[in-house]
Amino acid sequence: MKPAIIVLNLLILSQLGFTQNKVSISIDDVPNTRLYEKDLYESPLLKKLNALAIPIAIYINEGNIYKTDSIRRNFELLSFWAKKDFVTLGNHSFNHSRYSQVGLDSFKLDIIKGESISSELAKKYKKDLRHFRFPYNDLGKDSAQHVKIKQFLNKHDYQISPFTIESSDWMYNRVYEYYLNQNNLARAKQIGQAYVTITLEYFSFFEKFCQEQYGRSINHIYLCHDNKLNADYLDQIVKELKQKEYQFISLDEALKDPVYKQKDSYYKKWGISWLYRWQKSQKDRIKYIKIEPSTKEIEDLFKQINQNKNKTY
Ligand SMILES: [Zn+2]
Repeated sequence: MKPAIIVLNLLILSQLGFTQNKVSISIDDVPNTRLYEKDLYESPLLKKLNALAIPIAIYINEGNIYKTDSIRRNFELLSFWAKKDFVTLGNHSFNHSRYSQVGLDSFKLDIIKGESISSELAKKYKKDLRHFRFPYNDLGKDSAQHVKIKQFLNKHDYQISPFTIESSDWMYNRVYEYYLNQNNLARAKQIGQAYVTITLEYFSFFEKFCQEQYGRSINHIYLCHDNKLNADYLDQIVKELKQKEYQFISLDEALKDPVYKQKDSYYKKWGISWLYRWQKSQKDRIKYIKIEPSTKEIEDLFKQINQNKNKTY
């Protein structure tokens, strides 16, 4: 195609309101130290991300470093993540505690304790540590708790990290690892594929939501976790999204979308998408939550597996 024609086409597309879909990928509960020794001190997810070369935001639980005997190695693992150019750093609290349960004072300590190593790493690799994501996206049980912690984070120069799309990857991961441990590879593969499918369905669902609410596509933030499932399937999701013309952007780039300036009017403890928090009423939220893609099948399997585990022990 001649350059002049390309320019003309772009002009027509922009006049039609065409905007490219954009998303920032964010990964919680980093570093996953549980499988590190078994994986011979390699992070398969980090290895895949290296190859993908897209911007990633990570949310660190420093407490994970002390969860296995290989503390020195685990510390190294966190530094491997932190030093990557494509990685933006975020605090996710030390213990991954639930704010509405532990209360203000204990949660504040957990936030501060959670930055002790990360802030050193940030300095070392000339990065910021400005982003905070609440464990379980639990911003407090009522408006008083919400307000108090927001004041605290503000004072400490933290910005609350929102997300717009998630697809219960933690639940799929539990079932996926269960089948892998049973050596049922065929079933594990089905779960992995189901995760890819549901994630793409959630992207379509929230794109439609944004068209209806804002009349345009927004800069999305996808939330998932540092786990075996994403080590094996996140690259497939990225590939499929690229085919749908998604552009992968950094967290800071995503946050430039004015959509993130809206008021959060949700004062409960549940970890719902910011797209719902920005809606004025609970009635509006429920309307959409009710028609979200169904995860019933994986929820049932998840419950079954957890019940069986309790029976065995
Ligand atoms: Zn988390």
